[in-house]
Amino acid sequence: MTQDYTPKANLKIWLDGRLVPTAEAKISVFSHGLLYGDGVFEGIRVYGGRLFECRAHLERFANSLNAIRLQLPWTNDQIVEAMKETIKANGTKDGYIRLVALRGAGTLGIHPFRTVSPQVFIICDTIQMYEPSMYEKGMSVVTASTIRNHPNALAPQIKSLNYLNNILAKIEAIDAGCLEAVMLNHEGYVGECTGDNLFAVQNGRLRTPATHCGLLGGITRRLVLHFAQKRGIPTDECTMTRADLYFSQEMFISGTGAEICPITQFDKRPVGDGKPGPITKQVMSDFRGHIRSGEDLL
Ligand code: PMP
Repeated sequence: MTQDYTPKANLKIWLDGRLVPTAEAKISVFSHGLLYGDGVFEGIRVYGGRLFECRAHLERFANSLNAIRLQLPWTNDQIVEAMKETIKANGTKDGYIRLVALRGAGTLGIHPFRTVSPQVFIICDTIQMYEPSMYEKGMSVVTASTIRNHPNALAPQIKSLNYLNNILAKIEAIDAGCLEAVMLNHEGYVGECTGDNLFAVQNGRLRTPATHCGLLGGITRRLVLHFAQKRGIPTDECTMTRADLYFSQEMFISGTGAEICPITQFDKRPVGDGKPGPITKQVMSDFRGHIRSGEDLL
């Protein structure tokens, strides 16, 4: 069931301080990032050649690094410079940066400190998560049976390279003919989607699961809450059940890659009247306006 997909060969990749062509951007088979998923990453949008909400992403990156006890030989400022260099080298106007930090190559054993120095690489490419029609008509989403990682096992707040939890749920979504799935947490409450945060509108209130429900504190999620509050729409970061979602009039996802996309069918049930609702459209429009402003909010 695999499809042919060839990564772009003509990109310039920043790897440990040097810009190299894709074919020369190589990582050791002994990299603990590869062997054990021992590393963290960020996905950052580039709009109009500019890093979008860079500070918030770097803050989360630093928190993820700290959580897995990975110390980089680069400062935040150097990483920002490296990302800017990569954008320039690739001539990117609107695109997506993938910033990855890996524990270095080491012994065959998980000991994280028996490794050589950590590695950092930066890819700057284009991204399209979903078809443009989905942003107009909305997407279908199902609940996955795979629950989100327990926060005391691998906290979803850490943006680690261990995405198998999400990938198993994503496979369930694909099997159900969808591209996203809602993941519940270990207590059965709604967490987030496989690569996006989740919002629902219930009786005029914009609600999203609280971060203590076990989810990644999304940068786009924070922006959405900001836009809604500015419009006087009451917001709740709360505990939500799947039934709460069935009783919602609107649903949407938020994420760096996906941006904001309406959900119009959930577990084979229409959401509201089956069309993107007014609050969803308002937030989508505020998001586009924010991108155009060229200023960061967070
Ligand atoms: N949850 C998960 C699991 C994610 O991987 C992401 C990022 N793609 C998000 C939520 C959204 O976070 P952000 O808005 O910061 O991209």
